[in-house]
Amino acid sequence: MILLDGAKVANDRNLELKAKIEKDVEKYHRAPSLSIILVGENPASQSYVKGKGKACKLVGITHTLYHLEDTVSEAELEALIDKLNHDDDVDGILLQLPIPKHLDDIKLIDMILKEKDADGFHVVNQGNLYQKRPTIYPATPKGIMTLLKTYEIPIQGAHAVVIGRSNIVGFPVARLLMDQGATITVCHTKTKDLAFHTKQADIIIASAGRPELLTKDMIKPGAVVVDVGVNRVDGKLVGDVNFAGVSEVASYLSPVPRGVGPMTINALMENTYELYLKHVSR
Ligand code: NAD
Repeated sequence: MILLDGAKVANDRNLELKAKIEKDVEKYHRAPSLSIILVGENPASQSYVKGKGKACKLVGITHTLYHLEDTVSEAELEALIDKLNHDDDVDGILLQLPIPKHLDDIKLIDMILKEKDADGFHVVNQGNLYQKRPTIYPATPKGIMTLLKTYEIPIQGAHAVVIGRSNIVGFPVARLLMDQGATITVCHTKTKDLAFHTKQADIIIASAGRPELLTKDMIKPGAVVVDVGVNRVDGKLVGDVNFAGVSEVASYLSPVPRGVGPMTINALMENTYELYLKHVSR
């Protein structure tokens, strides 16, 4: 089994990006900038935001963290997004999800200017993705596709099974795999016999958020398995894949941690850079 080493690939790409940004700072007289909005004290979100801030520092993106109380009103958040939308020094805006239930995440994300939508979650950017038009890709699907490309995994003609149909992972990654010529099966909580589908897959994207859902007996020998899941079990991070078992059968497998997580952050850095380049040339 070959490890899909997301941490290494992401680090290599971040260093390449850093070199590009260094040149562009000379040319455009300012660094790219990302504003991150974090609401409340969710420990997982805090840890993701910390990782994103660290990556920004590494590649040379200026970042500002707006850490708001979980009692913040929707009007206050709207005012902040509006201010950032109008701030000419801001290239990218990210609202860290999930946000408390009294806030309307869909409405707030759609308020972010689509030209500053670093996460690629804005309805117009997602619509462009589904129509195969140029757009900002959501970070996790983009990171997964980059990981597969780096390891030269053949996608054209492959049967890819995606477990999960969320707007931020399962659905868009299925679309991107299909665009590259894979035949897609999307499984979800209503799927009757998950193993029936996964056993036929050349590529499996496990993004259900269920600890060790995918086991050795559910995959075909030689399958490529990407584990997106991040689950906290007894204080430890566990993926959606039983790593020990599946690594005996899979040809390629991404670990948790150090797999899709760092690729997602790298994709966010690359998205912010892309938005910056468009912004400075407007
Ligand atoms: P979500 O809860 O929005 O969606 C989960 C999907 O999985 C749903 O469509 C559901 O139908 C499906 N599902 C759940 N249980 C299932 C089962 N037993 N069988 C088949 N399908 C099942 O979650 P999400 O936001 O898409 O995230 C999925 C996982 O990926 C989570 O663990 C999340 O933490 C992780 N994640 C990781 C990264 C990263 O950077 N590594 C980024 C985003 C999400």
